[in-house]
Amino acid sequence: MPTLLVKNAQILVTMDEKRIEIAGGGLYIENGFIKQVGKLEELPARADEILDLKHHIVLPGLINTHHHFYQTLTRAVPAAQDANLFNWLKTLYPIWARMTASDIFISTQTALAELALSGCTTASDHLYLFPNGSRLDDEIEAASIVGLRLHASRGSMSLGESQGGLPPDSVVDSIDNILADSQRLIERYHDSKPGAMIQIVLAPCSPFSVTTEVMRQSAILARQYGVHLHTHLAETQDEEAFCVQQFGHKPVAYMQSLDWVGEDVWFAHSVYVNEEEIRLFSKTGSGVAHCPTSNMRLASGIAPIREYLKHKVKVGLGVDGSASNDGSHMLAEVRQAMLLARVRAGQEGASLSGSAEHWIMTARQALELGTRGGAAVLGRNDIGSLEVGKCADFIAIDLDQIDYAGALHDPVSAIVFCSPQKVSYNVVHGRVIVKEGHLTTIDLPKQIEKHNQASQRLVSGI
Ligand SMILES: [Zn+2]
Repeated sequence: MPTLLVKNAQILVTMDEKRIEIAGGGLYIENGFIKQVGKLEELPARADEILDLKHHIVLPGLINTHHHFYQTLTRAVPAAQDANLFNWLKTLYPIWARMTASDIFISTQTALAELALSGCTTASDHLYLFPNGSRLDDEIEAASIVGLRLHASRGSMSLGESQGGLPPDSVVDSIDNILADSQRLIERYHDSKPGAMIQIVLAPCSPFSVTTEVMRQSAILARQYGVHLHTHLAETQDEEAFCVQQFGHKPVAYMQSLDWVGEDVWFAHSVYVNEEEIRLFSKTGSGVAHCPTSNMRLASGIAPIREYLKHKVKVGLGVDGSASNDGSHMLAEVRQAMLLARVRAGQEGASLSGSAEHWIMTARQALELGTRGGAAVLGRNDIGSLEVGKCADFIAIDLDQIDYAGALHDPVSAIVFCSPQKVSYNVVHGRVIVKEGHLTTIDLPKQIEKHNQASQRLVSGI
C-alpha cells in the first residue's frame, strides 16, 4: 500500500467537527485515505513519499459544485460580455452548437487544470449539450488524465424555441435519447463507494430549456440507480416569469410538483427564493450551489446565503461556467462568496452604526462553504475535511508570497482576504496532482496552445 507523509505545515486546517487547526501539523496517508492527523511527533517517521510543507498552510481540497467546463472555450466573447442571462445564452448557443468531441476533451482538461492550480480537488461539471457526436464520455476520459475527482452531470435540453423554450431547436434532444444515454452512463461509470473518483449525476439544464417530462423521468431514473439530480434554479427574475407563464408555478414550486426536491437534489444559484422556499430546501435536504461571481457577472442578483445557513440548508460554492465568470479559480470564488455576502449584509443594514444585529460572513465560514459545504451538497461524507478515514484530498499554499506579507498573524484568513493565489500542492486520493506549483499530469503550455486554437476555431466559426 503506498504511503504518504505530510509534515511541518505552518498550520493544518482540518475542517473537522470541531474545526481544529494544528500548528506544525501533518497527515499520514495510506492507499489514498487518511490514517493519522496530528503534529510531527505523533506521526510515523517514514513513508514512501514525504512532503515537508514548512511555510505552507494545508487545507482540505476545495469542492466545486457547479461548472460547465466547455465554456472555457468561450470566455469573454465580445457579444456576450454585457448581456443578462437570457441574452447571454442566445448569443452563445450557436457558437456552442459547433463544438466537437475534441473540444469537450480539450476544454475539460483546461478547466480542471485551472481548478487544480486554484485548490480544487473535486469538481462537479454540468454538460448539457452534445453537438456533433460529442458525449459525456469525452469529458470523463479527459478528467481521468488530469486526476481530479469528478461528478459528471449528464445534462440535457429538450425544450427548443419552436416549443416555447429558449435554446434553438438544433441543440435540443429527444427524451428517448436523453434517458437511454443517461442510463448507459450510470451503468458504465457511476461509483457509489467511498473514495469514488467518478460519479454520474442527471442534470436537465433548466426549467426554460427542458420539458416537464424530461424533468420527471430523469428523477425517476436517478432514484432507480441512487444517483443525484442537479439543475439551474431561480437564477434570474426572467426565469421566474417564464415558469409562472409556462408552468403556472414559480421555479421552486415547479420543482416540488415534479418530486425534484430531496437529499439527492442540488440546485445552482437559487437567488430568487422566499422564506417559505428556503424552509422547503431545509426540510427536504435539497442543496444549493452558490456561484457569486457568475451572479455578479450576469447581473442576476445576490443569493440569500445568510438565510440558507440560518435554516441549515446545505450550501456549496461553484465557479459556474467559464463564460460567466470567466475563470475557474476556486479560492477566488471563496473570496467572492465572503465579499458578496457582505454586500448583502450592507444592504440589510450592517453598515448602519448601532444596528442591532447583523451578520458578516467570516473567511473561515467562506472556506467552510468551499469544503464541508460542497461535500454535503454533492452527498459525499468521504471528502471535505481532513480526518482519519477520509480521502487524502488536500492542498497546500505557500505563505511566503508577497500577497500574504503582513497578514501572517492569521494565515487561514489571509488566504481568503488577500489576493487569491495558486496552490503549491494539490493532492487527490494521495496522488500529487500539483507539485511545487506545477501540474504533474498534463503539459500546461501545450494544453493552452491547443485550447486557444480550438477556441478561435469555435468562436470564429471557420
Ligand atoms: Zn451554470
